Amino acid sequence: MNFVKEAARDVNVVLDVDVCVLGGSCTGVFAAVRAARLGAKVAIVEKQNSFGGMATAGLVNIWHSIFDTEFKEQIIGGLTVEVMESMKARGAVAIDEANASAYYRFNSEELKVELDKLVLEHNITPLLNTFVCNVSIDDDNNIEAVFVENKSGRQAVKAKVFVDATGDGDVAKIAGFPMRDSIHPLPPTTCAKIQGINKIDELNIGAFINEHGNEVGLRKDTGWHGVIPTSEDVRMYAMTHVFDMVATDGLSLSKAEMEGRIQIQSYMDLVRKYYPDYPISLLTLASSIGLRDSRRSIANYSLTDDDVLWGKQFDDAIANGSYRVDVHNEENGGFEFKYLDGTTHIISSEGSTKGRWRDPIDKDPTFYQIPYRTMVRDDFGNLIVAGRAICVDDLAFGAVRVMVNLNQVGEAAGVAAVLACQEGKDVSKIDVRNLRKTLAKGGSIVVN
Ligand SMILES: Cc1cc2nc3c(=O)[nH]c(=O)nc-3n(C[C@H](O)[C@H](O)[C@H](O)COP(=O)(O)OP(=O)(O)OC[C@H]3O[C@@H](n4cnc5c(N)ncnc54)[C@H](O)[C@@H]3O)c2cc1C
Repeated sequence: MNFVKEAARDVNVVLDVDVCVLGGSCTGVFAAVRAARLGAKVAIVEKQNSFGGMATAGLVNIWHSIFDTEFKEQIIGGLTVEVMESMKARGAVAIDEANASAYYRFNSEELKVELDKLVLEHNITPLLNTFVCNVSIDDDNNIEAVFVENKSGRQAVKAKVFVDATGDGDVAKIAGFPMRDSIHPLPPTTCAKIQGINKIDELNIGAFINEHGNEVGLRKDTGWHGVIPTSEDVRMYAMTHVFDMVATDGLSLSKAEMEGRIQIQSYMDLVRKYYPDYPISLLTLASSIGLRDSRRSIANYSLTDDDVLWGKQFDDAIANGSYRVDVHNEENGGFEFKYLDGTTHIISSEGSTKGRWRDPIDKDPTFYQIPYRTMVRDDFGNLIVAGRAICVDDLAFGAVRVMVNLNQVGEAAGVAAVLACQEGKDVSKIDVRNLRKTLAKGGSIVVN
């Protein structure tokens, strides 16, 4: 290996807060807001120029059902509903009532502004365009400060409790929190908003890419596209995957970013070739490739595949979910769905097949839960992991990873961080009954 030594230096502490949230997706922003609502002094650090993570920078504009699998009992509330209600007033949200594939379809750009306003209204200190790159650990294995880089140079942020909502668990990894790489990583997708494709009546874009993609080097694949409210001729397309990349490797990620964009231009060029009379236009490319999966933390408990598929309930549950297990094949991009009612649905470029993963039972579970212990470790006193880096097994991850679930995880992280400060305890030692009570008081739906 070839090394150079970086000189040691004193770094200016730019902020000293109660709770510092790293990563500003809805997971992160919701953690920050819930902490601020309990009176904490909060900062949030985000590497992009806006908040929202995959829901904004990644253009992923669908949040799934807030009801159980039978669409009868509401199991998700809190900031997910609050934010969508606020956006509804501007026509920026459409709702599909009883649909396993979508509930809220929203305008990502409006969500950016909504999140800006939430951060400002709650006096949360924002550091946008700021990358977290290191941590300082004290003798008790607590994080004393995180080091960030932005236009001001290198700075430190001190906090009593840190929430890692970076998706990849960057902070946890640097801090030495045990992590593991996903065994079969779900491949990423670059999303785009494209105008005009949906005006070509006879065109099924998925089937079309599979028929002609080889002309431009695209593999057979499976994807989806979705409506953007009140934009009749514009859709959000998530049609292809970038295979064989490593999300936490800088060079691999850089190449994947470019390949994802080229894939979009390639299938658009095919549409132009076969449908020359229809004008189509590339309106927006995601400002970062849509990473589904990379590394996950090893916390006090790993949510198992059975916990999800059999709807296990937990005393320390902080989130409820009804989204199916949804695994994207790492080689051919097809989807495999497993439902809580025992059925399966496999969709690939070759077609779709339905089956069962278990025999029928008298009463199917209608939702699953995420316990608080998937976010903390006894030997890390002041770090809470939120977002897709929480500790879950691979199939369980396929269900838990969607945003209506992770939004709740974020809210729980924010409340737990404040309780740890108030109770003067390690984050893994807080009173979880109090956590659940405080979550419910703040609008979350806490079941059992
Ligand atoms: C193409 C695609 C389609 C999907 N479809 C859906 C769907 O329809 N519905 C759904 O609910 N879910 C969907 N998902 C899954 C879902 O979007 C993600 O699992 C979820 O957004 C993960 O949330 P997160 O908060 O953990 O991470 P992210 O949303 O990725 O947020 C992490 C944030 O941290 C920031 N960050 C990362 N590293 C650093 C750093 N070192 N310093 C500072 N900031 C940092 C990032 O910029 C980002 O804002 C999809 C995912 C993809 C990729």
